Amino acid sequence: MSIGKSLADSDSLLNAQWARIRSKLRHEFGDATFRSWLQPLSIVTKRSGLLHLSVPSRFMRDWVVTHYLDRLKDLWVGENPEIGIVEIIVDTNVKMEEEVAADLPQPPIMSDGVKNDFALDWEKAEHVSAPLDPRLTFENFVVGKSNELAHAAALKVAEAGQVPFNPLFLYGGVGLGKTHLMHAIAWHIRRRHPDKKVIYLSAEKFMYQFIRALRDKSTVAFKELFRSVDVLMVDDVQFIIGKESTQEEFFHTFNALADKNHQIVLSADKSPSDLEGLEERMRSRLGWGLVADIHPTTYELRMGILQNKAEQSGVEIPAKVLEFLAHRVASNIRELEGALTRLIAHATLVGRPVTIESSQELLRDLLRASDRRMTVEEIQRRVAEHYNIKLSDMQSPRRARQVARPRQIAMYLSKQLTTLSLPDIGRKFGGRDHTTVMHAVKKVEELYATNSTLAEDIDLLRHRLQA
Ligand code: ADP
Ligand code: MG
Repeated sequence: MSIGKSLADSDSLLNAQWARIRSKLRHEFGDATFRSWLQPLSIVTKRSGLLHLSVPSRFMRDWVVTHYLDRLKDLWVGENPEIGIVEIIVDTNVKMEEEVAADLPQPPIMSDGVKNDFALDWEKAEHVSAPLDPRLTFENFVVGKSNELAHAAALKVAEAGQVPFNPLFLYGGVGLGKTHLMHAIAWHIRRRHPDKKVIYLSAEKFMYQFIRALRDKSTVAFKELFRSVDVLMVDDVQFIIGKESTQEEFFHTFNALADKNHQIVLSADKSPSDLEGLEERMRSRLGWGLVADIHPTTYELRMGILQNKAEQSGVEIPAKVLEFLAHRVASNIRELEGALTRLIAHATLVGRPVTIESSQELLRDLLRASDRRMTVEEIQRRVAEHYNIKLSDMQSPRRARQVARPRQIAMYLSKQLTTLSLPDIGRKFGGRDHTTVMHAVKKVEELYATNSTLAEDIDLLRHRLQA
Protein backbone atom coordinates (compact mmCIF):
# COMPACT_ATOMS: atom_id res chain seq x y z
CA MET A 1 0.00 0.00 0.00
CA SER A 2 1.40 3.41 -0.88
CA ILE A 3 0.81 6.23 1.53
CA GLY A 4 1.03 9.84 0.34
CA LYS A 5 3.74 12.04 1.78
CA SER A 6 1.29 14.58 3.11
CA LEU A 7 0.25 12.24 5.84
CA ALA A 8 1.84 13.51 9.01
CA ASP A 9 2.45 11.81 12.37
CA SER A 10 -0.92 10.23 12.41
CA ASP A 11 0.28 7.87 9.68
CA SER A 12 0.61 4.87 11.85
CA LEU A 13 -2.71 5.47 13.54
CA LEU A 14 -4.48 5.75 10.20
CA ASN A 15 -2.69 2.69 8.97
CA ALA A 16 -3.82 0.69 11.92
CA GLN A 17 -7.40 1.84 11.41
CA TRP A 18 -7.20 1.06 7.72
CA ALA A 19 -5.89 -2.41 8.46
CA ARG A 20 -8.86 -3.13 10.73
CA ILE A 21 -11.29 -1.77 8.17
CA ARG A 22 -9.74 -3.88 5.45
CA SER A 23 -10.06 -6.99 7.48
CA LYS A 24 -13.73 -6.23 8.12
CA LEU A 25 -14.30 -5.58 4.44
CA ARG A 26 -12.67 -8.85 3.50
CA HIS A 27 -14.85 -10.61 5.99
CA GLU A 28 -18.06 -8.93 4.83
CA PHE A 29 -17.63 -9.09 1.09
CA GLY A 30 -15.59 -12.24 0.77
CA ASP A 31 -12.15 -12.89 -0.52
CA ALA A 32 -12.80 -12.63 -4.25
CA THR A 33 -14.63 -9.31 -4.09
CA PHE A 34 -12.13 -7.94 -1.67
CA ARG A 35 -9.20 -8.80 -3.90
CA SER A 36 -10.82 -7.39 -7.02
CA TRP A 37 -12.20 -4.14 -5.72
CA LEU A 38 -11.10 -3.26 -2.23
CA GLN A 39 -7.53 -4.42 -1.94
CA PRO A 40 -6.35 -1.94 -4.61
CA LEU A 41 -7.58 1.01 -2.54
CA SER A 42 -4.92 3.01 -0.82
CA ILE A 43 -4.87 6.06 1.41
CA VAL A 44 -3.71 9.25 -0.26
CA THR A 45 -4.39 12.06 2.18
CA LYS A 46 -6.44 12.98 5.16
CA ARG A 47 -7.09 16.66 5.59
CA SER A 48 -9.40 17.71 8.41
CA GLY A 49 -12.52 15.62 7.92
CA LEU A 50 -11.81 14.59 4.35
CA LEU A 51 -10.14 11.31 3.54
CA HIS A 52 -8.94 10.52 0.03
CA LEU A 53 -8.49 6.96 -1.10
CA SER A 54 -7.18 6.13 -4.53
CA VAL A 55 -7.81 3.40 -7.07
CA PRO A 56 -5.89 2.74 -10.28
CA SER A 57 -8.67 3.37 -12.81
CA ARG A 58 -11.80 5.36 -13.46
CA PHE A 59 -13.73 2.22 -14.01
CA MET A 60 -12.73 0.89 -10.63
CA ARG A 61 -13.61 4.14 -9.00
CA ASP A 62 -17.12 4.10 -10.45
CA TRP A 63 -17.61 0.55 -9.34
CA VAL A 64 -16.28 1.10 -5.84
CA VAL A 65 -18.31 4.27 -5.45
CA THR A 66 -21.58 2.62 -6.42
CA HIS A 67 -21.03 -0.61 -4.55
CA TYR A 68 -18.84 -0.02 -1.54
CA LEU A 69 -18.53 3.67 -0.75
CA ASP A 70 -21.36 3.80 1.79
CA ARG A 71 -19.95 0.89 3.69
CA LEU A 72 -16.42 2.30 3.52
CA LYS A 73 -17.67 5.58 4.93
CA ASP A 74 -19.47 3.89 7.80
CA LEU A 75 -16.45 1.83 8.70
CA TRP A 76 -14.13 4.82 8.60
CA VAL A 77 -16.41 6.96 10.71
CA GLY A 78 -16.67 4.08 13.15
CA GLU A 79 -12.90 3.89 13.45
CA ASN A 80 -12.16 7.57 13.28
CA PRO A 81 -14.95 10.00 14.16
CA GLU A 82 -12.88 12.88 12.76
CA ILE A 83 -13.57 11.66 9.28
CA GLY A 84 -16.71 13.11 7.71
CA ILE A 85 -16.18 12.44 4.04
CA VAL A 86 -14.49 9.66 2.16
CA GLU A 87 -13.68 10.29 -1.47
CA ILE A 88 -12.31 7.89 -4.01
CA ILE A 89 -9.96 9.37 -6.56
CA VAL A 90 -8.17 7.90 -9.54
CA ASP A 91 -4.43 7.54 -9.40
CA THR A 92 -3.36 6.55 -12.88
CA ASN A 93 0.25 6.13 -11.86
CA VAL A 94 -0.75 2.75 -10.63
CA LYS A 95 -1.37 1.13 -13.98
CA MET A 96 -4.11 -1.41 -14.13
CA GLU A 97 -6.57 0.11 -16.53
CA GLU A 98 -9.08 -2.25 -17.96
CA GLU A 99 -7.79 -1.27 -21.40
CA VAL A 100 -4.22 -2.11 -20.46
CA ALA A 101 -5.28 -5.46 -19.18
CA ALA A 102 -7.00 -6.10 -22.49
CA ASP A 103 -3.75 -5.62 -24.33
CA LEU A 104 -1.82 -8.09 -22.26
CA PRO A 105 -0.58 -11.10 -24.17
CA GLN A 106 -3.03 -13.92 -23.70
CA PRO A 107 -2.06 -17.33 -22.50
CA PRO A 108 -2.60 -20.24 -24.86
CA ILE A 109 -5.67 -22.32 -24.04
CA MET A 110 -5.15 -24.81 -21.25
CA SER A 111 -1.48 -24.07 -20.94
CA ASP A 112 -0.16 -25.47 -17.72
CA GLY A 113 -0.17 -23.37 -14.62
CA VAL A 114 -2.48 -20.71 -16.00
CA LYS A 115 -5.06 -19.77 -13.44
CA ASN A 116 -8.34 -20.42 -15.09
CA ASP A 117 -11.63 -19.53 -13.50
CA PHE A 118 -13.65 -20.16 -16.61
CA ALA A 119 -13.22 -23.83 -16.77
CA LEU A 120 -13.73 -25.20 -20.22
CA ASP A 121 -15.97 -28.03 -19.20
CA TRP A 122 -19.57 -27.13 -18.88
CA GLU A 123 -20.07 -28.45 -15.37
CA LYS A 124 -18.04 -25.68 -13.91
CA ALA A 125 -19.92 -23.03 -15.83
CA GLU A 126 -22.67 -23.19 -13.23
CA HIS A 127 -21.45 -20.10 -11.45
CA VAL A 128 -21.54 -18.10 -14.67
CA SER A 129 -25.29 -18.43 -15.04
CA ALA A 130 -27.34 -16.71 -12.37
CA PRO A 131 -29.68 -18.97 -10.38
CA LEU A 132 -33.21 -19.23 -11.74
CA ASP A 133 -36.15 -18.27 -9.59
CA PRO A 134 -38.59 -21.23 -9.56
CA ARG A 135 -41.60 -18.91 -9.42
CA LEU A 136 -40.74 -17.19 -12.67
CA THR A 137 -42.31 -19.58 -15.16
CA PHE A 138 -44.70 -19.23 -18.07
CA GLU A 139 -47.41 -20.86 -15.94
CA ASN A 140 -47.18 -17.99 -13.47
CA PHE A 141 -47.10 -15.26 -16.07
CA VAL A 142 -50.41 -13.48 -16.58
CA VAL A 143 -50.90 -12.28 -20.12
CA GLY A 144 -52.65 -9.02 -20.95
CA LYS A 145 -52.69 -6.43 -23.71
CA SER A 146 -49.56 -4.72 -22.46
CA ASN A 147 -47.32 -7.78 -22.54
CA GLU A 148 -48.91 -10.16 -25.06
CA LEU A 149 -46.34 -9.60 -27.80
CA ALA A 150 -43.38 -10.06 -25.45
CA HIS A 151 -45.00 -13.16 -23.99
CA ALA A 152 -45.76 -14.71 -27.38
CA ALA A 153 -42.22 -14.04 -28.58
CA ALA A 154 -40.67 -15.50 -25.44
CA LEU A 155 -42.82 -18.61 -25.69
CA LYS A 156 -41.90 -18.99 -29.34
CA VAL A 157 -38.19 -18.87 -28.50
CA ALA A 158 -38.65 -21.38 -25.70
CA GLU A 159 -40.61 -23.86 -27.81
CA ALA A 160 -38.98 -23.44 -31.19
CA GLY A 161 -36.81 -26.21 -32.56
CA GLN A 162 -35.05 -23.67 -34.74
CA VAL A 163 -34.14 -20.15 -33.83
CA PRO A 164 -37.17 -18.09 -34.87
CA PHE A 165 -35.57 -14.66 -34.64
CA ASN A 166 -32.24 -13.51 -33.36
CA PRO A 167 -31.92 -11.78 -31.03
CA LEU A 168 -35.16 -11.52 -29.13
CA PHE A 169 -34.93 -8.09 -27.58
CA LEU A 170 -37.36 -7.40 -24.74
CA TYR A 171 -37.69 -3.92 -23.41
CA GLY A 172 -39.88 -1.98 -21.01
CA GLY A 173 -39.95 -0.10 -17.73
CA VAL A 174 -38.91 -1.49 -14.41
CA GLY A 175 -40.96 -4.23 -12.77
CA LEU A 176 -43.01 -5.11 -15.84
CA GLY A 177 -41.87 -8.71 -16.36
CA LYS A 178 -38.71 -8.76 -18.50
CA THR A 179 -36.72 -10.85 -16.06
CA HIS A 180 -39.74 -13.05 -15.45
CA LEU A 181 -39.98 -13.90 -19.16
CA MET A 182 -36.27 -14.66 -19.45
CA HIS A 183 -36.34 -17.03 -16.50
CA ALA A 184 -39.46 -18.63 -17.97
CA ILE A 185 -37.62 -19.30 -21.23
CA ALA A 186 -34.72 -20.85 -19.35
CA TRP A 187 -36.99 -23.10 -17.26
CA HIS A 188 -38.92 -24.21 -20.27
CA ILE A 189 -35.83 -25.19 -22.23
CA ARG A 190 -34.20 -26.86 -19.27
CA ARG A 191 -37.25 -29.00 -18.76
CA ARG A 192 -37.67 -30.04 -22.38
CA HIS A 193 -34.05 -30.16 -23.43
CA PRO A 194 -31.82 -30.73 -20.42
CA ASP A 195 -28.86 -31.22 -22.73
CA LYS A 196 -29.03 -27.67 -24.07
CA LYS A 197 -26.65 -25.16 -22.61
CA VAL A 198 -28.59 -22.17 -21.43
CA ILE A 199 -26.97 -19.25 -19.71
CA TYR A 200 -28.97 -16.49 -18.07
CA LEU A 201 -27.17 -13.62 -16.41
CA SER A 202 -27.38 -9.88 -15.89
CA ALA A 203 -25.25 -7.58 -18.00
CA GLU A 204 -23.63 -6.46 -14.80
CA LYS A 205 -22.56 -9.97 -14.05
CA PHE A 206 -21.35 -10.43 -17.60
CA MET A 207 -19.14 -7.41 -17.14
CA TYR A 208 -17.92 -8.56 -13.78
CA GLN A 209 -16.95 -11.96 -15.16
CA PHE A 210 -15.25 -10.36 -18.10
CA ILE A 211 -13.20 -7.97 -15.97
CA ARG A 212 -12.22 -10.85 -13.77
CA ALA A 213 -11.16 -12.85 -16.79
CA LEU A 214 -9.01 -9.93 -17.91
CA ARG A 215 -7.41 -9.71 -14.55
CA ASP A 216 -6.82 -13.43 -14.21
CA LYS A 217 -5.69 -13.64 -17.81
CA SER A 218 -8.34 -16.20 -18.55
CA THR A 219 -10.09 -14.37 -21.37
CA VAL A 220 -9.59 -17.23 -23.78
CA ALA A 221 -11.57 -19.53 -21.55
CA PHE A 222 -14.13 -16.78 -21.02
CA LYS A 223 -14.63 -16.43 -24.75
CA GLU A 224 -14.82 -20.18 -25.27
CA LEU A 225 -17.38 -20.58 -22.58
CA PHE A 226 -19.72 -17.86 -23.77
CA ARG A 227 -19.37 -18.88 -27.37
CA SER A 228 -20.26 -22.49 -26.71
CA VAL A 229 -23.77 -21.95 -25.35
CA ASP A 230 -26.99 -22.79 -27.16
CA VAL A 231 -29.00 -20.01 -25.63
CA LEU A 232 -27.49 -16.88 -24.11
CA MET A 233 -29.73 -14.50 -22.19
CA VAL A 234 -28.38 -11.22 -20.89
CA ASP A 235 -30.64 -9.10 -18.71
CA ASP A 236 -30.55 -5.29 -18.48
CA VAL A 237 -28.01 -4.67 -21.22
CA GLN A 238 -28.33 -0.90 -20.76
CA PHE A 239 -25.86 -1.48 -17.98
CA ILE A 240 -22.90 -2.08 -20.27
CA ILE A 241 -23.38 1.02 -22.37
CA GLY A 242 -20.38 3.25 -21.99
CA LYS A 243 -18.31 0.39 -20.59
CA GLU A 244 -16.17 0.20 -23.67
CA SER A 245 -14.23 -3.01 -23.44
CA THR A 246 -17.19 -4.89 -22.03
CA GLN A 247 -19.43 -3.67 -24.81
CA GLU A 248 -16.80 -4.67 -27.34
CA GLU A 249 -16.49 -8.16 -25.89
CA PHE A 250 -20.23 -8.49 -25.69
CA PHE A 251 -20.51 -7.52 -29.34
CA HIS A 252 -18.05 -10.23 -30.36
CA THR A 253 -19.77 -12.85 -28.25
CA PHE A 254 -23.05 -11.81 -29.75
CA ASN A 255 -21.74 -12.05 -33.31
CA ALA A 256 -20.09 -15.39 -32.74
CA LEU A 257 -23.33 -16.87 -31.43
CA ALA A 258 -25.50 -15.26 -34.07
CA ASP A 259 -23.21 -16.57 -36.81
CA LYS A 260 -23.66 -20.08 -35.47
CA ASN A 261 -27.39 -19.46 -35.35
CA HIS A 262 -27.59 -19.89 -31.60
CA GLN A 263 -30.35 -18.09 -29.74
CA ILE A 264 -29.73 -14.81 -27.97
CA VAL A 265 -32.27 -13.09 -25.74
CA LEU A 266 -31.64 -9.62 -24.37
CA SER A 267 -33.53 -7.18 -22.21
CA ALA A 268 -33.18 -3.48 -21.58
CA ASP A 269 -35.14 -0.58 -20.20
CA LYS A 270 -35.34 1.06 -23.65
CA SER A 271 -35.56 0.02 -27.28
CA PRO A 272 -32.29 -0.33 -29.22
CA SER A 273 -32.97 2.94 -31.00
CA ASP A 274 -33.46 4.80 -27.72
CA LEU A 275 -30.44 3.37 -25.96
CA GLU A 276 -28.16 6.35 -26.00
CA GLY A 277 -24.47 5.72 -26.26
CA LEU A 278 -24.89 2.32 -27.85
CA GLU A 279 -22.40 1.68 -30.61
CA GLU A 280 -23.96 2.02 -34.05
CA ARG A 281 -22.95 -1.43 -35.31
CA MET A 282 -24.38 -2.95 -32.13
CA ARG A 283 -27.62 -1.06 -32.52
CA SER A 284 -28.12 -2.22 -36.07
CA ARG A 285 -27.30 -5.80 -35.16
CA LEU A 286 -29.82 -5.76 -32.33
CA GLY A 287 -32.48 -4.63 -34.76
CA TRP A 288 -32.08 -7.76 -36.89
CA GLY A 289 -34.20 -9.85 -34.63
CA LEU A 290 -37.51 -9.22 -32.96
CA VAL A 291 -37.87 -6.21 -30.73
CA ALA A 292 -40.80 -6.65 -28.35
CA ASP A 293 -41.84 -4.04 -25.85
CA ILE A 294 -43.76 -4.43 -22.62
CA HIS A 295 -46.08 -1.52 -21.98
CA PRO A 296 -47.18 -0.16 -18.63
CA THR A 297 -49.82 -2.37 -17.05
CA THR A 298 -53.52 -1.98 -17.59
CA TYR A 299 -56.07 -2.23 -14.82
CA GLU A 300 -57.24 -5.60 -16.15
CA LEU A 301 -53.75 -7.05 -16.06
CA ARG A 302 -53.18 -5.81 -12.54
CA MET A 303 -56.46 -7.41 -11.46
CA GLY A 304 -55.50 -10.64 -13.20
CA ILE A 305 -52.15 -10.78 -11.45
CA LEU A 306 -53.68 -10.03 -8.05
CA GLN A 307 -56.38 -12.67 -8.43
CA ASN A 308 -53.82 -15.20 -9.50
CA LYS A 309 -51.55 -14.53 -6.61
CA ALA A 310 -54.31 -14.30 -4.03
CA GLU A 311 -55.62 -17.67 -5.20
CA GLN A 312 -52.22 -19.28 -4.92
CA SER A 313 -51.77 -17.97 -1.40
CA GLY A 314 -54.96 -19.67 -0.23
CA VAL A 315 -55.88 -16.60 1.82
CA GLU A 316 -59.27 -15.07 1.27
CA ILE A 317 -58.93 -11.50 0.03
CA PRO A 318 -62.22 -9.76 -0.86
CA ALA A 319 -62.58 -8.68 -4.50
CA LYS A 320 -63.16 -5.09 -3.31
CA VAL A 321 -59.71 -5.02 -1.75
CA LEU A 322 -58.09 -6.39 -4.91
CA GLU A 323 -59.87 -3.73 -6.96
CA PHE A 324 -58.68 -1.10 -4.56
CA LEU A 325 -55.07 -2.28 -4.95
CA ALA A 326 -55.31 -2.53 -8.73
CA HIS A 327 -56.48 1.06 -8.85
CA ARG A 328 -54.04 2.52 -6.44
CA VAL A 329 -50.77 0.68 -7.11
CA ALA A 330 -50.35 1.21 -10.81
CA SER A 331 -46.64 1.88 -11.09
CA ASN A 332 -45.33 -1.62 -11.60
CA ILE A 333 -45.98 -5.25 -10.86
CA ARG A 334 -43.23 -5.63 -8.33
CA GLU A 335 -44.86 -3.06 -6.06
CA LEU A 336 -48.27 -4.50 -6.65
CA GLU A 337 -47.03 -7.92 -5.56
CA GLY A 338 -45.29 -6.40 -2.57
CA ALA A 339 -48.52 -4.78 -1.44
CA LEU A 340 -50.50 -7.97 -1.74
CA THR A 341 -47.82 -9.99 0.04
CA ARG A 342 -48.00 -7.62 2.96
CA LEU A 343 -51.79 -7.98 3.19
CA ILE A 344 -51.58 -11.75 3.00
CA ALA A 345 -48.92 -11.89 5.69
CA HIS A 346 -50.99 -9.70 7.94
CA ALA A 347 -54.18 -11.67 7.39
CA THR A 348 -52.36 -14.93 8.15
CA LEU A 349 -50.77 -13.58 11.29
CA VAL A 350 -53.70 -11.84 12.94
CA GLY A 351 -56.38 -14.10 11.50
CA ARG A 352 -58.78 -11.26 10.73
CA PRO A 353 -60.25 -10.71 7.27
CA VAL A 354 -58.67 -8.00 5.16
CA THR A 355 -60.78 -4.91 4.53
CA ILE A 356 -60.19 -1.77 2.49
CA GLU A 357 -59.70 0.18 5.71
CA SER A 358 -57.10 -2.19 7.11
CA SER A 359 -55.35 -2.25 3.73
CA GLN A 360 -55.15 1.51 3.67
CA GLU A 361 -53.64 1.44 7.09
CA LEU A 362 -51.16 -1.35 6.32
CA LEU A 363 -50.04 0.11 3.02
CA ARG A 364 -49.95 3.74 3.99
CA ASP A 365 -46.28 4.28 3.10
CA LEU A 366 -46.59 2.45 -0.18
CA LEU A 367 -49.75 4.24 -1.23
CA ARG A 368 -48.25 7.58 -0.40
CA ALA A 369 -45.12 6.82 -2.40
CA SER A 370 -47.15 5.60 -5.30
CA ASP A 371 -49.43 8.67 -5.17
CA ARG A 372 -46.66 11.15 -5.31
CA ARG A 373 -43.56 9.68 -6.82
CA MET A 374 -40.80 12.24 -6.71
CA THR A 375 -39.58 13.35 -10.11
CA VAL A 376 -36.44 15.17 -11.12
CA GLU A 377 -38.62 17.81 -12.76
CA GLU A 378 -40.33 18.51 -9.45
CA ILE A 379 -37.00 18.78 -7.67
CA GLN A 380 -35.65 21.14 -10.32
CA ARG A 381 -38.74 23.32 -10.08
CA ARG A 382 -38.58 23.61 -6.30
CA VAL A 383 -34.86 24.24 -6.19
CA ALA A 384 -35.07 26.87 -8.93
CA GLU A 385 -37.88 28.61 -7.06
CA HIS A 386 -35.97 28.49 -3.84
CA TYR A 387 -32.86 30.11 -5.29
CA ASN A 388 -34.80 32.37 -7.56
CA ILE A 389 -33.25 31.21 -10.80
CA LYS A 390 -34.90 30.23 -14.06
CA LEU A 391 -36.06 26.66 -14.39
CA SER A 392 -34.29 26.49 -17.75
CA ASP A 393 -31.00 27.12 -15.98
CA MET A 394 -31.20 23.59 -14.65
CA GLN A 395 -30.50 22.42 -18.21
CA SER A 396 -28.42 25.32 -19.46
CA PRO A 397 -24.65 25.13 -19.87
CA ARG A 398 -24.16 28.33 -17.80
CA ARG A 399 -21.47 27.89 -15.20
CA ALA A 400 -21.93 31.05 -13.17
CA ARG A 401 -21.86 30.19 -9.49
CA GLN A 402 -25.37 31.51 -8.81
CA VAL A 403 -26.88 28.94 -11.18
CA ALA A 404 -24.25 26.20 -10.97
CA ARG A 405 -24.57 25.68 -7.23
CA PRO A 406 -28.39 25.34 -7.18
CA ARG A 407 -28.06 22.97 -10.12
CA GLN A 408 -25.63 20.84 -8.15
CA ILE A 409 -28.00 20.83 -5.22
CA ALA A 410 -30.83 19.71 -7.47
CA MET A 411 -28.64 16.87 -8.78
CA TYR A 412 -27.75 15.87 -5.26
CA LEU A 413 -31.41 15.82 -4.21
CA SER A 414 -32.34 13.88 -7.35
CA LYS A 415 -29.79 11.24 -6.43
CA GLN A 416 -31.14 11.07 -2.89
CA LEU A 417 -34.85 11.23 -3.52
CA THR A 418 -35.36 9.34 -6.76
CA THR A 419 -34.23 5.93 -7.86
CA LEU A 420 -32.70 7.19 -11.09
CA SER A 421 -29.12 6.32 -12.02
CA LEU A 422 -26.42 8.95 -12.39
CA PRO A 423 -26.55 8.85 -16.22
CA ASP A 424 -30.35 9.24 -16.14
CA ILE A 425 -30.06 12.22 -13.84
CA GLY A 426 -27.36 13.75 -16.05
CA ARG A 427 -29.66 13.48 -19.04
CA LYS A 428 -32.34 15.48 -17.27
CA PHE A 429 -29.86 18.23 -16.55
CA GLY A 430 -29.24 19.19 -20.15
CA GLY A 431 -27.52 15.96 -21.15
CA ARG A 432 -24.70 16.17 -18.68
CA ASP A 433 -22.30 13.30 -18.15
CA HIS A 434 -22.76 10.99 -15.17
CA THR A 435 -19.36 12.02 -13.85
CA THR A 436 -20.65 15.61 -13.64
CA VAL A 437 -23.54 14.39 -11.53
CA MET A 438 -21.21 12.34 -9.38
CA HIS A 439 -19.01 15.38 -8.89
CA ALA A 440 -22.02 17.50 -7.95
CA VAL A 441 -23.19 14.93 -5.41
CA LYS A 442 -19.73 14.80 -3.84
CA LYS A 443 -19.41 18.55 -3.83
CA VAL A 444 -22.73 19.06 -2.09
CA GLU A 445 -21.99 16.28 0.39
CA GLU A 446 -18.78 18.06 1.22
CA LEU A 447 -20.52 21.43 1.61
CA TYR A 448 -23.28 19.83 3.62
CA ALA A 449 -20.70 18.64 6.13
CA THR A 450 -18.85 21.93 6.36
CA ASN A 451 -21.36 24.70 5.73
CA SER A 452 -24.22 24.72 8.20
CA THR A 453 -26.22 27.46 6.48
CA LEU A 454 -26.25 25.50 3.29
CA ALA A 455 -26.99 22.30 5.16
CA GLU A 456 -30.08 23.92 6.68
CA ASP A 457 -31.14 25.15 3.31
CA ILE A 458 -30.90 21.68 1.85
CA ASP A 459 -32.74 20.11 4.75
CA LEU A 460 -35.53 22.61 4.29
CA LEU A 461 -35.80 21.84 0.58
CA ARG A 462 -35.82 18.12 1.20
CA HIS A 463 -38.43 18.49 3.88
CA ARG A 464 -40.71 20.53 1.61
CA LEU A 465 -40.28 18.08 -1.24
CA GLN A 466 -41.24 15.19 0.97
CA ALA A 467 -44.06 16.92 2.82
P1 ADP B 1 -38.44 -6.41 -14.84
O1 ADP B 1 -37.36 -7.39 -15.08
O2 ADP B 1 -39.14 -5.97 -16.08
O3 ADP B 1 -37.99 -5.22 -14.01
P2 ADP B 1 -39.61 -8.55 -13.33
O4 ADP B 1 -39.62 -9.59 -14.36
O5 ADP B 1 -38.56 -8.66 -12.29
O6 ADP B 1 -39.58 -7.09 -13.97
O7 ADP B 1 -41.05 -8.51 -12.63
C1 ADP B 1 -41.29 -7.92 -11.37
C2 ADP B 1 -42.21 -8.80 -10.57
O8 ADP B 1 -43.49 -8.81 -11.16
C3 ADP B 1 -41.75 -10.24 -10.52
O9 ADP B 1 -42.00 -10.75 -9.24
C4 ADP B 1 -42.61 -10.92 -11.56
O10 ADP B 1 -42.85 -12.28 -11.23
C5 ADP B 1 -43.89 -10.13 -11.51
N1 ADP B 1 -44.54 -10.07 -12.81
C6 ADP B 1 -44.22 -9.26 -13.85
N2 ADP B 1 -45.04 -9.46 -14.89
C7 ADP B 1 -45.90 -10.43 -14.50
C8 ADP B 1 -47.02 -11.07 -15.13
N3 ADP B 1 -47.39 -10.73 -16.37
N4 ADP B 1 -47.66 -12.02 -14.43
C9 ADP B 1 -47.29 -12.34 -13.18
N5 ADP B 1 -46.27 -11.77 -12.53
C10 ADP B 1 -45.58 -10.82 -13.18
MG1 MG C 1 -35.36 -7.27 -14.47
